[in-house]
Amino acid sequence: MTKYDPLIKKCRLCNSVNIFKFHQAENGSQIYKCSHCKVQFMNPQYSDEYLTDLYSSYIRDETQLEEKLVKSHSYCLQLIQECAFVKGKLLDIGSGNGYLIKIAKQRGWDPTGHEINCDSAETLHVKTGIRILCGEIYNLNIEERFDAISMLHVIEHLKNPEKYIEKIFSVLNKKGVLFLALPNIQSPSSLFKLILEKTKLKTKNVAAYYDTGHHLWYFSPHTIRSFLEENGFKIIRIYSGENINLNRNKFFNVIDEKILSKVLWHSSMGVIARKL
Ligand SMILES: [Zn+2]
Repeated sequence: MTKYDPLIKKCRLCNSVNIFKFHQAENGSQIYKCSHCKVQFMNPQYSDEYLTDLYSSYIRDETQLEEKLVKSHSYCLQLIQECAFVKGKLLDIGSGNGYLIKIAKQRGWDPTGHEINCDSAETLHVKTGIRILCGEIYNLNIEERFDAISMLHVIEHLKNPEKYIEKIFSVLNKKGVLFLALPNIQSPSSLFKLILEKTKLKTKNVAAYYDTGHHLWYFSPHTIRSFLEENGFKIIRIYSGENINLNRNKFFNVIDEKILSKVLWHSSMGVIARKL
């Protein structure tokens, strides 16, 4: 089996050819950085064959975490509701165990789920009774338009995030809400891992700075903001944690995103954006 694709010659997010090798991970994977948009990504990326094999053995036993996951997905939906102008059609890309779509249905949304793998999509449909799309989202012919689209911990796994965002833009209603959850490569816990790696103090039970087992893209608040803004979205908020006040003074949001994201934020961040 071929593990890697050919080397990427230009940044897929901004098309700049000014990309350079930035880091070599323990498993041999190389991380590149784009000089223009600053995003970091695995290069070369894993082959389709390798990823299919990897995800076929990817068993998500979340029974221990169920209560916590219901709570965190409810909170994501609450933020989507605070920003959406109508409680209408919601598309959740990469639905996994279906927490978000099930909660959305209970709260009066008309949800549609999605899974890349069609067998997983069918299993989820049987379990929830909710329509589940399957395949790469940018290859699907989707006629309807959505009022909100969520994609939780998916974008960092995609080979072509730019194709996903382009498709999301085209199937979202004007002023529709996009909600993303993803790791923040600039979070204090990430930086701590990097220091351990650089000083050779990292032990086996500490996760690597770059999760090259699964993740192909590594975003910071700055890089995810520029990527979405370049693709026709207005950022409502990039945040970490809970109890988010969406109406507070914008000045605090700037401090939060530019400074506190590096010293106080959790390893995951949420992004709420609106289609212009
Ligand atoms: Zn770039």
